[in-house]
Amino acid sequence: MRPVVIAHRGACGYLPEHTLPAKALAYAMGADYLEQDIVATRDDRLIVAHDIHLDRVTNVAERFPGRARADGRYYARDFDLAEITTLRAHERTDRHGKPAFSGRFPSAGENFRVHSLERELELVAHLSVHGARPVGIYPEIKDPAWHRREGVDISLLVLETLARFGYDDHAAPAYLQCFDENEVRRIRHQLGCRLKLVQLIGEDDWSPEPTNFAAMRTKKGLALLAGTVDGVGPWFNRLYKLRKRDGRISDSGFVTRAHEQGLVVHPYTFRSDALPPGFASFDALLEFSINGLAVDGLFTDFPDQVFRFLRSIS
Ligand code: CA
Repeated sequence: MRPVVIAHRGACGYLPEHTLPAKALAYAMGADYLEQDIVATRDDRLIVAHDIHLDRVTNVAERFPGRARADGRYYARDFDLAEITTLRAHERTDRHGKPAFSGRFPSAGENFRVHSLERELELVAHLSVHGARPVGIYPEIKDPAWHRREGVDISLLVLETLARFGYDDHAAPAYLQCFDENEVRRIRHQLGCRLKLVQLIGEDDWSPEPTNFAAMRTKKGLALLAGTVDGVGPWFNRLYKLRKRDGRISDSGFVTRAHEQGLVVHPYTFRSDALPPGFASFDALLEFSINGLAVDGLFTDFPDQVFRFLRSIS
């Protein structure tokens, strides 16, 4: 069985991340799941955006000067949805304003927008009814502990919104994902969420929140996760070992350990324009991951290139 293809922030290798055009393009390319990162606004609405800040992907600083916090960042939580939908979205930039991925199509000045989670779920519902095939969703609750400190229980809002669109049981075409392991446990065991859940696994130094991703990657850690989630979303770089001496790539054993616990493995992020160390081409990366590691799915910025590879081996 081929791995499921998850359009990471849409087909964001071609159009600005998390815009509706990037999602529609991913659908047309055949993606099995469209990913939504979710952040709350000042008026407790949910938007589809990767960061709690708006300044790397929109013209917020130009449109609303003076609305940054002391750290110079513009937080989605400080704006109403109606304000956010007036912003123009563009390709992600770094803190110097340079494109995060230098070879991608420059989108500044085009009429791309940020939209609400509800709007995207309406698009998914429309495509699933009127398109050639249904498509799943893959929402991620961003920084739940930070949101709680800001006075909003984002998980409750997300679950309520998903349920309203019919995503409320295990068979629903959805995976709900989060990096925060306490929140994932709460979502399953206290909030009673029946959706398929995925624990994201990053690096301990990525987040200001206390985490122990190293423990999750062990046999014991994965066995513990299996009591709560259906799968794991690991950083791809933890799935292999690269021998410096001769560049030899080998399996780190993570995927097998996770499979032994009955967990599906959906690593991130497969980008043809940002290959992990040791891989000479996107096809070599896909060959190792799909034929070698037997991952169950993958997050990619370039769904069309993954399908081209899958056709070439079928
Ligand atoms: Ca994400």
